[in-house]
Amino acid sequence: MSEIRETVILGSGCAGLTAAIYTARAGLKPLVLEGHEPGGQLSITTMVENFPGWPEGIQGPELIANMKKQAEKFGATFEHGHLSRVELGARPIKLHSSGGEIHTRTLIVASGASARWLGLPSEQALIGHGVSSCATCDGFFFRGKDIAVVGGGDSAMEEALFLTRFATKVTLLHRRDQFRASKIMLDRAMAHPNIELRTDTLVEEVLGVDEKEVRGLHLKDAKSGVESELTVSGLFLGIGHEPNAKMFEGQMDLDQDGYIKTSGNVLTTLNGQVIPGVFACGDVQDRRYRQAITAAGSGCMAALEAEKYLEEFGH
Ligand code: NAP
Repeated sequence: MSEIRETVILGSGCAGLTAAIYTARAGLKPLVLEGHEPGGQLSITTMVENFPGWPEGIQGPELIANMKKQAEKFGATFEHGHLSRVELGARPIKLHSSGGEIHTRTLIVASGASARWLGLPSEQALIGHGVSSCATCDGFFFRGKDIAVVGGGDSAMEEALFLTRFATKVTLLHRRDQFRASKIMLDRAMAHPNIELRTDTLVEEVLGVDEKEVRGLHLKDAKSGVESELTVSGLFLGIGHEPNAKMFEGQMDLDQDGYIKTSGNVLTTLNGQVIPGVFACGDVQDRRYRQAITAAGSGCMAALEAEKYLEEFGH
């Protein structure tokens, strides 16, 4: 049988890296499996102004790089790998990854949440050809162009503000007339001379599929039904995220939107009964706060619970 690990952490965002720092410092030699978005959402964000301890703010990728360095310093190791299957009921717990089978006594799930798409065929066809869910990754390509951002939350405001560095004009399209965004972010977007906010506006189609390049949007007013076209070279999605927990379906309790249900902050359950040795932290189990600092906090809790569990079973 292959080596049995004390703890494996799924995900390398703020929650996973904090769990890695704590479990590594406790001598558990955690293995961190990095998914398809190493570093999580902070790695594709810009300035983080509200993480305590950084009065001038810190760039998201730098904050993540620092956390990873800190975890490695205490003995955490990192592997890239796609998990195809998990056996949470097995002892040790079995993980089937692209790199082979992994056996572990405890598992900390910190697999986060991924960007949501509108789901229009034209949008999907033009991803990478003018349609993007990551302003920090792709904004650079839209220098001197007009673009649109969809969404009414903080992500959409942040993307719109960031994109004004490159775009001539940013049109922010929101499907309702009430915003979810915090007042400070909304005020900043509204005050920006190069951002136009359009409410009650639905994106019906992204134009440019034949040309393989976004050339505009077909829009519809949600109240009047009036249809119109907006000429833009880019469309950025800022409409929230989906939890990365599909692989646990049937083995763990998930809520109606697919977020992991936890009891006692980070304990996972199946049919309401705690699953021994399996903990969840960060955005994959938090639909309410979803902040870097709360993800880090729950990563710490999951690590402490994993330590306690191993201690109780004499490992
Ligand atoms: P969010 O708050 O859930 O907002 C998502 C927005 O997208 C909503 O306005 C929603 O419209 C819209 N939307 C969802 N599905 C849509 C669809 N199919 N078509 C059109 N519009 C759609 O998500 P978020 O903005 O990503 O923020 C998530 C959390 O992270 C929040 O707690 C936020 O405060 C935090 N955050 C903070 C910062 C910061 O402080 N700098 C930056 C980013 C995120 P409805 O309103 O109509 O539902």
